[in-house]
Amino acid sequence: MNKNLEEISDGKRYGLHDMVRAACNDCEGCHSCCEDMGDSILLDPLDVYLLQKNLKTKIETLIEKKIELRMVDGLILPNLMMDEKTNCCVFLNEEGRCSIHAFRPGICRLFPLGRIYEDGNLAYFLQREGCVKENRSKVKVSKWLDTPELKKNQKFLVDWHDFRKEMEKIVQETSDENTVKTITMFLLHTFFLQPYDENADFYEQFYERLGRIQSVLPR
Ligand code: SF4
Ligand code: SF4
Repeated sequence: MNKNLEEISDGKRYGLHDMVRAACNDCEGCHSCCEDMGDSILLDPLDVYLLQKNLKTKIETLIEKKIELRMVDGLILPNLMMDEKTNCCVFLNEEGRCSIHAFRPGICRLFPLGRIYEDGNLAYFLQREGCVKENRSKVKVSKWLDTPELKKNQKFLVDWHDFRKEMEKIVQETSDENTVKTITMFLLHTFFLQPYDENADFYEQFYERLGRIQSVLPR
């Protein structure tokens, strides 16, 4: 385990079947991790598909009010916004609860766990400065993630991560600014702005788009 990870975690790695001290009694009166998160709640294509499907809204409509776009390691990616006045997530309601709980982004499902990508696999760690609740109880990692089609989801997360890394490398190695702009805009459009069919399976749509891009990548 590298030093950074040791500093921010409890020093252990967890798999899906391990028990981890993450359960915080349904957050009871707390919304600490929905506050002051800056631009850290990054969205992946599945998050955007679920927002689009459940809010019956195109991503373009959410941009600027709920979602912002920013450069992350050379790629343009979306993240949830904090409300300017309250500094809380724009989806936190007046009762201090998540208004999109059933389809909240993957990062929110995970907290206070973090993910590690290693050699095509995922592992989890418990963030040391994560949940503010004391006396958390143990819960199985797979239960905590509360994610439908977990096996498919894990594969998607690894594939999306690996693809991002590959594209970051291509962008870094491209010296022509116009080419970089074309690549980043094309990726943004393909995975986030081009609407998903909400009645069709997300993973099939994702892999169709991924395959289309990979077929034209230099090998
Ligand atoms: S800090 Fe812990 S208890 Fe508070 S909202 Fe986040 S996960 Fe729930
Ligand atoms: S989406 Fe929900 S869980 Fe995630 S930060 Fe916003 S209010 Fe909190």
